[in-house]
Amino acid sequence: MRETDAIAEARRNLEVCNACRYCEGYCAVFPAMELRREFPATDLGYLANLCHGCRGCFYACQYAPPHEFGINLPKVFAEIRQESYVQYAWPQPMAKLFERNGTVVSVAAALITALVMIGTALFQSPDRLFGVHRGEGAFYAVIPHNVMVLLAGSTFVFALVAIAISIARFWREAGGGAGPNGKQGMGKPLMQAVRDALTLKNLGGGGHGCNDTDGSFATSRRNLHHALFYGFMLCFASTNVATYYHYGLGLQAPYGYFSLPVILGTVGGIGMTVGASGLIWLKIVGDPEPVSRRLLGADYAMLVLLWMVAVTGLVLLAVRSTSAMGVTLAIHLGFVLALFVALPYSRMVHGAYRFAALVRAAREH
Ligand code: SF4
Ligand code: SF4
Repeated sequence: MRETDAIAEARRNLEVCNACRYCEGYCAVFPAMELRREFPATDLGYLANLCHGCRGCFYACQYAPPHEFGINLPKVFAEIRQESYVQYAWPQPMAKLFERNGTVVSVAAALITALVMIGTALFQSPDRLFGVHRGEGAFYAVIPHNVMVLLAGSTFVFALVAIAISIARFWREAGGGAGPNGKQGMGKPLMQAVRDALTLKNLGGGGHGCNDTDGSFATSRRNLHHALFYGFMLCFASTNVATYYHYGLGLQAPYGYFSLPVILGTVGGIGMTVGASGLIWLKIVGDPEPVSRRLLGADYAMLVLLWMVAVTGLVLLAVRSTSAMGVTLAIHLGFVLALFVALPYSRMVHGAYRFAALVRAAREH
């Protein structure tokens, strides 16, 4: 990590916290902080990605604004996390683009992709786009199966490669998990990190929940995050099952309303819609003090993009037997492709960074 204003501010904050230590039971950041006497930039990148932004330490802190010390860990850590995504991103020109204006780029990418797909379908014949298609292979009458697989497959693989390269850079620069206590094996730390990530243990505020909107404790943010994450995973499972149906069983989409891919996709889509809507609402009504305002645009872009993917998927299910299916399919695919392209350069990448930080934290203790 480069030395920046946010890095200097986090160092100042942690020097106070390391003397105070009042919040040591709140999350994994404080035990990791207590292992250190100095805070080089790379360690601050690691600690910032270990922070889940629950805001518990902000409302507990006697030195938070308006106190002259102005301790505000959730805000400064959010800024460092964003800087880490940009600094370790691959390829770099893409990261710069998203850093400048995540909202415009994500939505523009989705709309352009949808327009290109609509244009492609119109180029073949308007009947394909606006006609009524039913039964096996109906989707592919609008957009050929090979085109869909090529577009979705290439953008998804690109996203995975870009994320893997950036996480490898983060992991290597942060010392590969060699903490002050020396290296341990990977098995147990990996299991613990998986458990902590899947249960969002660090959004629990030490057991009483986190401060979703103000100083009171609640579990809404944790539950909504679960709905969004597990909804996304169910949609991913639905796509995999559908791929098996297509290539393994020779059955072409769309599948029946009570088939496994449709049930998984519907439950997943509803989970994503509820999770993204709720998280947007919490951002709107939440206390702005522990939030970095310059990151809000990118946060909203991510949630709106996830919401659009889920809602257009559910709408597609509802209109798939009508003449609106073609345009809805193109728009849904546009948002899915934009999501894949945006994945490594938006806040959605936080899951991968946070998981790497959790593994490192588990190795240090
Ligand atoms: S956030 Fe405030 S109360 Fe908590 S450890 Fe730091 S200085 Fe102490
Ligand atoms: S905001 Fe929450 S997760 Fe982040 S350092 Fe404070 S208590 Fe820990």
